[in-house]
Amino acid sequence: MTQEMIDRLRGEVAGPVLTPEAEGYAEELSGFNLAVTHTPDVVVGLTSEDDAVAVVRAAAESGTPVRVLATGHGIPNPIQDGIVVTTTRLTGLTVDPEAKIAHIAAGNRWAEVIAAAAPHGLAPIAGASDAVGCVGYTLGGGLGPLARTYGFSSDWARGFRVVTAAGEVVTADPTENADLFWALRGGKGGFGIVTAMDFALAELSTLYGGSVFFDAESVAPVLSSWTEWTKTLPESANSSVVILRLPPLEFIPEPLRGKTVLSVRFAYVGDAAEGKRLFQPIRDAGTVLIDTVGELPVSDIALIHNDPKDPTPSWDRGVLLTGIDAGFVDAFLDAVGPEQQVPLIAVEIRHLGGATERDVPGGSAVGGRSGAFTLTIIGVPDPVLFEKVLPATVDGVLAALRPWVSAETTVNFAGGFALPGSYEASWPADTFARLAGIRAAYDPNRLFPYGPRQG
Ligand SMILES: Cc1cc2nc3c(=O)[nH]c(=O)nc-3n(C[C@H](O)[C@H](O)[C@H](O)COP(=O)(O)OP(=O)(O)OC[C@H]3O[C@@H](n4cnc5c(N)ncnc54)[C@H](O)[C@@H]3O)c2cc1C
Repeated sequence: MTQEMIDRLRGEVAGPVLTPEAEGYAEELSGFNLAVTHTPDVVVGLTSEDDAVAVVRAAAESGTPVRVLATGHGIPNPIQDGIVVTTTRLTGLTVDPEAKIAHIAAGNRWAEVIAAAAPHGLAPIAGASDAVGCVGYTLGGGLGPLARTYGFSSDWARGFRVVTAAGEVVTADPTENADLFWALRGGKGGFGIVTAMDFALAELSTLYGGSVFFDAESVAPVLSSWTEWTKTLPESANSSVVILRLPPLEFIPEPLRGKTVLSVRFAYVGDAAEGKRLFQPIRDAGTVLIDTVGELPVSDIALIHNDPKDPTPSWDRGVLLTGIDAGFVDAFLDAVGPEQQVPLIAVEIRHLGGATERDVPGGSAVGGRSGAFTLTIIGVPDPVLFEKVLPATVDGVLAALRPWVSAETTVNFAGGFALPGSYEASWPADTFARLAGIRAAYDPNRLFPYGPRQG
């Protein structure tokens, strides 16, 4: 990148413009995944939509690629060229309780929206971790702990403001740039810099939810029961299971420390007594170590999964499953059950179906509506394992589970498109083709690179 370009950016942008030798460059580029080090030619901290416009216009004139970094929960590949824009400073959340809409800026995280909506008896349909960025998450669809009841999070997006490759600020909603609106509801990247979105809020104050941890001996019987039980659940009941291999660390509650356990998460939207009745067969299926399932204010929804918030080296792969049965449980336990020596900290299955199967009026780009379950495999957070050991482990697991693995996946669960074919598989073929056309229309010179190994 030329000095002239750097000087231009410094002259036109209010936020920091940092080159590799500048103090603060590495901090500006660090995110949730400590195993990824980005080294672009320059990183620009956006403070306003005007900053985004200035960056895009300068980049377009010089043909310099632009990529967006929000919280770093979802960029597993190092970005090594061009401009990275960070959105942390682009905050500006407001909630309209009458319209039941949150106006969310690119730098806001779900925790802020949950806290702002709760006093009004409202809640965003968000993800498992409230530390994830709302915009990046929603652009990929988003499957959270209430997905069976309320669908993909992108189903709740009502409009976006986008700085396009032409350096123009456009609204994308059902009436203006409707094709771009369709694409941004699940099509993820390569369309521009989204500076804000309007997001509908659900009327919801409390859940019957939490998680129950079972000992290693209970993993097989509880998993078998869970597999059958999910077939009986109404859409108002959401659940997932995860085998956790927990390290012997102080911060982990004593009954779980250093153990392999199964956690069943539950989130029921409705009467607590009915939720309790529905969940009872799971409570009875094994030896309980910890049970937190009960009436839960929706503001505490992140406690259901209790995902790590602090930055950590992280490595995961994900697919969707077409269904699960007794044969799956056997194959799953043979591959990743407590008796196996595998370098995996978590192997999670989430129950989909219900509202995740139904598209919104007018349609949206999100992929994965045909999936019955998600499967996410998370490696031990030791970067030494990331290059060879974990990919080989996951290849083995997926080979054993092949009869149940869906040909379709969904982008937020696709682990950065590392699995062969997972980019194309993240959307149905006709959606994939339409997305390519919309990217070409809004970004003909590929200013915003997107796809496998593109950051
Ligand atoms: C601990 C953890 C828990 C998770 N839980 C869930 C879950 O429950 N459900 C689920 O669906 N996903 C989940 N995810 C995946 C997560 O939703 C995606 O990784 C998402 O992309 C993160 O978005 P971000 O903006 O926070 O992250 P970033 O890594 O900063 O951004 C990811 C990508 O989003 C795009 N992007 C972000 N902001 C903008 C913007 N303003 N304009 C244009 N493009 C933008 C870019 O393509 C960027 O590469 C989880 C991930 C982690 C690590």
